[in-house]
Amino acid sequence: MPDVVRDIAALREVVRDWRRDGHRIGLVPTMGALHEGHLSLLSHAFVSCSKVITTIFVNPTQFGAHEDLDAYPRDEARDLDMIAEAGGQLVFIPSVETMYPTEFSTRVEVDGLTDVMDGAARPGHFNGVTQIVSKLLNQAQADVAVFGEKDWQQLAIIRRMVSDLDVPTDIQGAPTVRDAFGLALSSRNAYLSPDELSIARRLNVVLKKAAYDIAASDYPTDICKTATDDILTLGFQSVDYLECRDAVNLSLVDKLHKRSARLFVAAKIGRARLIDNVAVN
Ligand code: AMP
Repeated sequence: MPDVVRDIAALREVVRDWRRDGHRIGLVPTMGALHEGHLSLLSHAFVSCSKVITTIFVNPTQFGAHEDLDAYPRDEARDLDMIAEAGGQLVFIPSVETMYPTEFSTRVEVDGLTDVMDGAARPGHFNGVTQIVSKLLNQAQADVAVFGEKDWQQLAIIRRMVSDLDVPTDIQGAPTVRDAFGLALSSRNAYLSPDELSIARRLNVVLKKAAYDIAASDYPTDICKTATDDILTLGFQSVDYLECRDAVNLSLVDKLHKRSARLFVAAKIGRARLIDNVAVN
């Protein structure tokens, strides 16, 4: 079983010992309810690190008032078993009070990249993400921190923040892990009924076809509209966005012209809001 620490001093003590022994340290921040996608981040960290810290914290500041903070799946014992299987040596599980003592009053916000897509659909969400990730990076002082490409916008925002604030941790992205049908694994997939799951599994099919069509035609706008209609026809209640954007600065792409672009989607089905993204070329 991995060691579990719940306060910052204990985390720092372990990290100090590891540093003294010459280890390269990786950090994998999560909200728990772990699946193979999370474990792939640990594997990615182990490529260049000899010790990996996994953090489990359901961060209240990144949930909107009407979002699923209370319902968010939590299963610490199962998470610890999975981290043990993946070889993770240390798990940091702070309480809300440890992360946000009553006098807490600092904000960490990234402009621009947070205005679009999930930033527009979930006001304040990314401010909560940058706030908690900057704290975790400072607390762990890891050499490498790994985030999933499934949350591509989040990864782009964290890269921007770390560059702007001169944080000395190397931010690495790991590819999206999918089930056998191509559905991106997500803790929120647990909300899906069997019928909803079979509809959700078609989302990536529509997305991949649209990406293929865009690469062939160079003009994303109409293809995005058709793909949005296709997703609604599948049985999704709504599509928050389906957009082709630059992979780095996230600006809207209306003519591909050899740019490195990705197709991004957020769509709601039942109690779940699913996001996904794929490369266009
Ligand atoms: P979460 O627990 O959902 O906040 O996710 C924690 C980390 O796992 C984030 O960096 C996510 O991007 C990453 N992640 C979540 N799902 C996947 C997946 N299916 N494949 C790869 N990484 C993922």
